[in-house]
Amino acid sequence: MSRDDLAFAASIISEARHLIALTGAGISKESNVPTFRGKDGLWRKHNVMDLATPSAFARNPQLVWEWYSWRQDLIAKCTPNPAHHTLVKWEKKGILKSLISQNVDGLHRRAGSGNVLEVHGNLWAVKCTSCTHLGRLSDPAQGIPECPSCGANLRPDVVWFGERLNPVVMQNVREELERADTIIVIGTSALVQPAATFPLIVKQRGGKLLEVNIEQTPLTRTVDAHLRGKAGELLLKLDKLIGI
Ligand code: NAD
Ligand code: ZN
Repeated sequence: MSRDDLAFAASIISEARHLIALTGAGISKESNVPTFRGKDGLWRKHNVMDLATPSAFARNPQLVWEWYSWRQDLIAKCTPNPAHHTLVKWEKKGILKSLISQNVDGLHRRAGSGNVLEVHGNLWAVKCTSCTHLGRLSDPAQGIPECPSCGANLRPDVVWFGERLNPVVMQNVREELERADTIIVIGTSALVQPAATFPLIVKQRGGKLLEVNIEQTPLTRTVDAHLRGKAGELLLKLDKLIGI
């Protein structure tokens, strides 16, 4: 990638009237957020798919909570990286209007981003399996947390395999995709639906599409600028060129 590509991408960002971002697991790579699927993972004896479904939770809530508690503990030790921080700065300066993330690690909020739409939920969020209670844990779960309103089991408020995405979050996402004239897509393989189609919705309406990734994705051939490299490094470079 040449300096010209970066300068071109920076000019698109500077000219945007309504810039939004879409982020995936790649933006958290430089924060060392684990993928939980590595061969050395503590959970190698279990199939991750069997831990992240409503039926798995109904069968063995204790086991599912042990897995989430382990993940919460790992995430608590990770910190936001320059890519997260740059997006916070752009939001504060009024350049970035909102941020759609597929990540459940909560690092955007921890970095200080305000307008975050977490389409797959958040590892620290909980909801009651019986009433409408919604809450948030501040420490990794101990055992099976109970609902403070009705005493039923709480479950992680993340979207499990086979579940619908949160309709309120999705309505907000649709509205942002309608408003956006530019979208920057950072660290997503663009394979997981429906997030993979979000950039195309902006593009089809005549908007601009930027991609930051260490490799090509199915989106790459439709983008206005593809920036190849690590999110943290590239966002710092873009920020410098934008000069705010
Ligand atoms: P993905 O794992 O499918 O793709 C990650 C992408 O990031 C890849 O295209 C890769 O080339 C790119 N990448 C890796 N390191 C990068 C870096 N330093 N800078 C820029 N790009 C980099 O992730 P996805 O597209 O988010 O979809 C996977 C699903 O898994 C999502 O549903 C997500 O919710 C879930 N997930 C979340 C987390 C998290 O919360 N941090 C972690 C793993 C998986
Ligand atoms: Zn309840």
